[in-house]
Amino acid sequence: MWWAFLTMFLIRPGLVQAKTPLERLKEIVSINSGSANLEGVLAVQKKIRPWFEELGFEVVLKENPEGSAKSAPMLIGTLVGKSPRSITLTMHADTVFEPSSPFQKWIMKDESLMNGPGVMDDKGGIIVALEALEIYLSGLKSRNEKPRYTLIVEVTPNEEVGALGWEKTFRELSEQSDLVIGLEPAYRKGIVEGRKGNVWFEIEVTGKEAHAGVNHRLGVNACNLLAKKMVELEKLTDYPKNVTVSVGRIEGGQDKYNIVCGWAKAKMDSRVPDAAARDRLVKAVGRILKDPAIRFKITDETVPMAARPLSRPWTQKVLEWIRQEEGGSPEAHISGGVGDVNHYAREGLVVMDGLGPVGDHMHTPEEFIDLRTIPTRARVLARLLEEFGSKRP
Ligand SMILES: [Zn+2]
Repeated sequence: MWWAFLTMFLIRPGLVQAKTPLERLKEIVSINSGSANLEGVLAVQKKIRPWFEELGFEVVLKENPEGSAKSAPMLIGTLVGKSPRSITLTMHADTVFEPSSPFQKWIMKDESLMNGPGVMDDKGGIIVALEALEIYLSGLKSRNEKPRYTLIVEVTPNEEVGALGWEKTFRELSEQSDLVIGLEPAYRKGIVEGRKGNVWFEIEVTGKEAHAGVNHRLGVNACNLLAKKMVELEKLTDYPKNVTVSVGRIEGGQDKYNIVCGWAKAKMDSRVPDAAARDRLVKAVGRILKDPAIRFKITDETVPMAARPLSRPWTQKVLEWIRQEEGGSPEAHISGGVGDVNHYAREGLVVMDGLGPVGDHMHTPEEFIDLRTIPTRARVLARLLEEFGSKRP
């Protein structure tokens, strides 16, 4: 493995690429691309565009069709195969680190570990995709073959804030695809076979203000009612069933001791593994919050990507190939985090995620990538493209 690692990063004899994967990774990690930094995300898209073009992709930068959803454009690259049916690779150019974050620079922790904003999530994923495509396409070229499946690469500009505005694009790409591969980072050295869906609730409680000393009886305390409801809501969390409920923020009342709290608000996150669990949870929340003083609404929702029997044989193959490359006993996981593949998931589609590099501590200043897994994961992905791609669409 070390020999392969050195070849990939230092020597690269005879390859068309002018830059090594590590140099490319450093370049894109050096560009701030917090989701709200539209110029920065665009700069990353422009930087990687010729890298996909060199591989033969025709690339467009598509403006967000949802006028109200502010984001940089999405990069979509197409390499036409013998069939219009597609294999789609999805990744993202944005990070959670806006220009205001103190975490802006990459540093090498040692020769194989690199710390930096988005270094594994998901800029490392972009590099793995590029490397895998190069291996796969140069294999085809040496055999004078054209890919059977049309290949599509899709780089989302606002994945970290829910990919608003792209639902229709994801659906269209999904419908023309037989296989969708997410390049999110590996999950605990394994891959992701399912992703929970999320339902976000906004809760508002109306009470009645009164002097807390003189007219205590006349007051109706909204903070108290919200607190009682929160205790009940928390009981909906069920780890064995992969259901969680978490209040992320509460506010209420005036900034005073002596006024009974007249209003309160909460924002609540919930995660569910499948549609049935989602319906059960929404019903239970409704029952708990049934009170004339309470109003609530669902402000955002993403459908779960449930692990499906059609994907399982491919997931098993990928795990076996990872084991051959890296050793250990990689497993397929259900992730609590929503990703772009949630939007792609549908019956009849082979879909998996977490085929990006190994690392840890994403979304924190400790985020790091294990650089040795760029070549290993790229070879695994190339093998998947080769094997799935040799099927008749
Ligand atoms: Zn990500």
